[in-house]
Amino acid sequence: MAGQEQRRRRHRVVLFPLPFQGHVTPMLQLAALLHSRGLAVTVLHTAFNAPDPARHPELAFVPIHEALPDEVTCPGADIARQLLALNTACEAPFRDALASLLLLRGRRGQDQDQGSVACAVVDGQCYAAVDAAAQLGVPVLALRTDSAATFRTMLAFPRLRDAGYEMLDELVPDLEPLRVRDLIRVDGSDADALCGFIARVAGAVRSSASGVVVNTFEGIEAPELAKIRRELSLPVFAVGPLHLMSRAPAEQTTLRAPDGGCLAWLDTRPPRSVLYVSLGSVATVGHAAFEEMAWGLAGSGVPFLWVVRPGLVAGGEEEAPPPLPDGFSEEIKNRGKIVTWAPQREVLAHAAIGAFWTHCGWNSTLESVCEGVPMLVQPCFADQTVNARYVTHVWGVGMEVGEVIERGIVAEAVAKVMVGEEGARMRERAHRLKMEASAATSLSIDSLIHYISSLPTAN
Ligand code: UDP
Repeated sequence: MAGQEQRRRRHRVVLFPLPFQGHVTPMLQLAALLHSRGLAVTVLHTAFNAPDPARHPELAFVPIHEALPDEVTCPGADIARQLLALNTACEAPFRDALASLLLLRGRRGQDQDQGSVACAVVDGQCYAAVDAAAQLGVPVLALRTDSAATFRTMLAFPRLRDAGYEMLDELVPDLEPLRVRDLIRVDGSDADALCGFIARVAGAVRSSASGVVVNTFEGIEAPELAKIRRELSLPVFAVGPLHLMSRAPAEQTTLRAPDGGCLAWLDTRPPRSVLYVSLGSVATVGHAAFEEMAWGLAGSGVPFLWVVRPGLVAGGEEEAPPPLPDGFSEEIKNRGKIVTWAPQREVLAHAAIGAFWTHCGWNSTLESVCEGVPMLVQPCFADQTVNARYVTHVWGVGMEVGEVIERGIVAEAVAKVMVGEEGARMRERAHRLKMEASAATSLSIDSLIHYISSLPTAN
């Protein structure tokens, strides 16, 4: 094994994450996994939302020195335009950084065991970097940090746009049970920019990628994975759930400091009595919806732990959390706990948690699935609508909060999922899904490692 590891370390994998929490986390989990299997790993990264190298002494980190325009970094930016601008701004610096790695090795010669670049793994949303790596002659794998179902939707996007669907509740042929309303969307975002972005993402995979790595597992998405394999004729490695497979501690990959005090608070609560509420790292709600969420939680009578992070309310302060409604803190006394950032994986694993009110980001969805926690879903944008539909209509482990966020509707939905019969049935199914997740095998990871180790090195 030692000899095999040493041989593999000569194969270096260069990773490049999209610099947002939901993308950095699975990329660093993959980095830990690849390193634990004997490969050498370099992470190229932007200065914007940079990972902390001190938390990963086993990995090499190289900044790409990008110059990002304001529309990428400013809070509340149009997401589609932000992603397009980010791709444009990172293309040349990424290409230069990767080319330097190739040259560096060439200059040092083969005797110094720094590991020669065998391939790149680039976040699939970074289409410009996928293309750039391929142009340098480096085999490139696109990492999908979303579900296989979402990726299928992206591949189908040109066909869907041309079909001109108008009925929101119509099922989309070949993507059932997704309805038109569940397709990737970003409210308020420029529709042409979004379509352009998705077309470039799909185009880069088709023309430049040598394979696709997806943070999912056969136990929940076997049909979707099979269809992607048929459609792309590329190797597709379903290596998830990455947080279970990599065993990387959660605090290694978080970009914000969590408030661990909420775990002690959970310790004082009976099993399955607390609702955990979080809309992830990017989603925002309007001021009115925020107030309705608050009063709905208060009115439900259910204990809750709520992540109210800076920037959660659209148009509010970016550096400080939004103020809670007047009289809310007195109303909830010690029945509700508010934090600005939670140690989410530990929270979901805590016996006191009964359900998760989530925006259905893919990481949150997988983390909930892996802990057997049923969900109340409130998808906000992008792939969250796809994930929410699978949670409610394929796996049956969650229900919608409601079409509008209104305190009475919220209180009713919270009670249903926490203490109702429907909630109990969802919990049972969630438990079965948890078993499936923990039985997910490393077969796909083994094939990925074999695939990378068999590649000729680029320098
Ligand atoms: N997260 C966390 N603490 C919080 C909220 C979120 O650690 O208070 C983590 C969560 O565990 C997940 C990630 O942030 O791994 C959010 O990713 P996801 O794909 O769910 O949503 P996004 O933030 O990309 O919308």
